[in-house]
Amino acid sequence: VSDAEAEVKKEGGKEKVEWVENDNIGYFIKKKLRVWCRLSHGVWGYGTIQSTSGEESFVSLSNGNVVKVSTSELLPANPEIVEGVDDLIQLSYLNEPSVLHNLKYRYSCDMIYSKAGPVLIAVNPFKDVQIYGKDFVTAYRQKATVSPHVFAMADTAYNEMMNDGANQSIIISGESGAGKTETAKFAMQYLAALGGGNGGIECEILQTNCILEAFGNAKTSRNDNSSRFGKLIEIHFTTLGKISGAKIQTFLLEKSRVVQLAAGERSFHIFYQLCAGAPPTLRERLNLKMANEYSYLVQSDCLVINGVDDAKKFHMLMEALDIVQICKEEQEQAFAMLAAVLWLGNISFQVIDNENHVEASADEALTSAAGLMGCAPQELMQALSTHRVQNGKDSIAKKLTLRQAIDTRDALAKLIYASLFDWLVEQINKSLEVGKRCTGRSICILDIYGFESFKKNSFEQFCINYANERLQQHFNRHLFKLEREDYESDGIDWTKVDFEDNQECLDLFEKKPLGLLSLLDEESYFPNATDLTFANKLKQHLKANSCFKGDRGRAFGVRHFAGEHQLYKLMHQLENTTPHFIRCIKPNCKQLPGTFEEDLVLRQLRCCGVLEVVRISRSGYPTRMTHQEFAERYGFLLLETNVSQDPLSISVAVLKQFNVLPEMYQIGFSKLYLRNGQIGALEDRRKQL
Ligand code: ATP
Ligand code: MG
Repeated sequence: VSDAEAEVKKEGGKEKVEWVENDNIGYFIKKKLRVWCRLSHGVWGYGTIQSTSGEESFVSLSNGNVVKVSTSELLPANPEIVEGVDDLIQLSYLNEPSVLHNLKYRYSCDMIYSKAGPVLIAVNPFKDVQIYGKDFVTAYRQKATVSPHVFAMADTAYNEMMNDGANQSIIISGESGAGKTETAKFAMQYLAALGGGNGGIECEILQTNCILEAFGNAKTSRNDNSSRFGKLIEIHFTTLGKISGAKIQTFLLEKSRVVQLAAGERSFHIFYQLCAGAPPTLRERLNLKMANEYSYLVQSDCLVINGVDDAKKFHMLMEALDIVQICKEEQEQAFAMLAAVLWLGNISFQVIDNENHVEASADEALTSAAGLMGCAPQELMQALSTHRVQNGKDSIAKKLTLRQAIDTRDALAKLIYASLFDWLVEQINKSLEVGKRCTGRSICILDIYGFESFKKNSFEQFCINYANERLQQHFNRHLFKLEREDYESDGIDWTKVDFEDNQECLDLFEKKPLGLLSLLDEESYFPNATDLTFANKLKQHLKANSCFKGDRGRAFGVRHFAGEHQLYKLMHQLENTTPHFIRCIKPNCKQLPGTFEEDLVLRQLRCCGVLEVVRISRSGYPTRMTHQEFAERYGFLLLETNVSQDPLSISVAVLKQFNVLPEMYQIGFSKLYLRNGQIGALEDRRKQL
């Protein structure tokens, strides 16, 4: 019955069976079943095959239209019984339009969560969905529901920690605006509900979000509340499962945002909150103006966010700072540093000689910034107008040009801001410090911004993308491990399943001495190195790596790679935990509810690895049923009566009767494992009867 085609590819002497996307399509054509076809404008249409002649097919779409399409582009659609399934792995056909259709169908019913095997997919609703209340916490806690939900995932992590004593991690990824931070907060909310009641520490933990978002988030063109740093929060529990403390680590703060903004974007929220919400006495002490009087803030022509009251946010922030026990005096010192940064941005320079050297103007900006930083205006002027160079044993002050002076001023502003941010995290950590009776059991939640690609990517994007590449590998390896365990425990021959890795891409970054990082490091020591010499060097050494594109990588201007960031430590820390993955998906770029743009979703599913999960399942045996389930569902189709009545024998006889080829299935101790598409024919036959 099955016309499934297999392409046998010789690769490195190893035979690899790869199932082409349109397996079974011959069967579909013959039976005139429902299919997906690619319409001219790149969208998938759903319909029934009317007729086929050679390369062309006529498909009657669900809206009544009949279209002519290329037969080779037809993909089988799923039988109705799997419409809107919780887990994409349950689909009989795991092609892209089927996966998209399933997510879209669920999204239209406000079911924003789905599973792709072990991975939780969260599609951003861009509206309040009533699924996070106490009633839902209780329902998941009591296992009254098993629908996919971030609560369900947090619950699993908590139970695995309690039962196995193993540390857990919840790793949230996705594009900017996809919902990572909100999802992380819901996970924290659930864990706080489960582990609360230990002196209010859970409330303190939840308040840290408000503080870190004020200082680390900003309005960008893609998200009004975009996190401009990565965050790992470790929540620690007692043996009884109560929260005993927490620790926050932050990564890759985008400090360039303090001094440079793209049109329509804002700097970090805190600046606008402070300017709008500081009470009169504080304003006076900091000589604080409104946001529109500061050059750093006005440059992008965007001072407010629709529907956000910055003054109100400032009051909430002050309360949160009280809750995490940062005293009023320290709060004021922090605000003074923010005001100093703003005043720094207003410092201007004037030319003082005919070699174009400059000096900072002695005006309100200079005196205010110096006053707030606790130094004399003259000292600040000196620092911003000269730089010291080593001359033998002595160091001498050299005057700066305008460009150099502005860079120096901006570098100081960035340094102050980044140090303030680090200080804040340190204070929060002191307040959340894990008690002495700590058991070492923890669940950590990682919210890190996803791959970024702008017209001109800077070193910041390079680091972010590298971090994501490492996470992707962590994700792949874990997934493969889970799959392998599943197969092996059921006695299935694992070697017939091929998985890929992103090792080559990581090699491009990491290989020594010929990887991007090493080459960048080396090039930055050459006095005469330029963007061009670096680009040429990269091309020369890395062109053989398939992940390297010659036209990229010209925009680095960094002297050395300082950050081997924290990242190795992070990966090491994560490798010692049981991971749980959440992939957030942004259904449209306008931040609108009810709008599901298929192309955009598909691109994210592809690049964030969800389709990879699906592909992995396809390359293996996605359909798994116990002998019992299989026999009960299909046993009645047996024509042969002389079969012994145990589930295994019935199952094998059914497979034989339907000519399911031996390479299309394996029989495990408890389950049957079928290759993609095999179950469709059985389902159809079952429905016809
Ligand atoms: P970035 O990488 O820019 O930080 P992100 O993935 O963290 O982006 P979020 O800030 O979490 O994105 O989400 C963007 C916006 O989407 C939120 O401000 C909120 O309006 C909406 N949103 C996200 N998730 C949900 C949800 N589960 N329910 C309701 N609204 C949501
Ligand atoms: Mg975020």
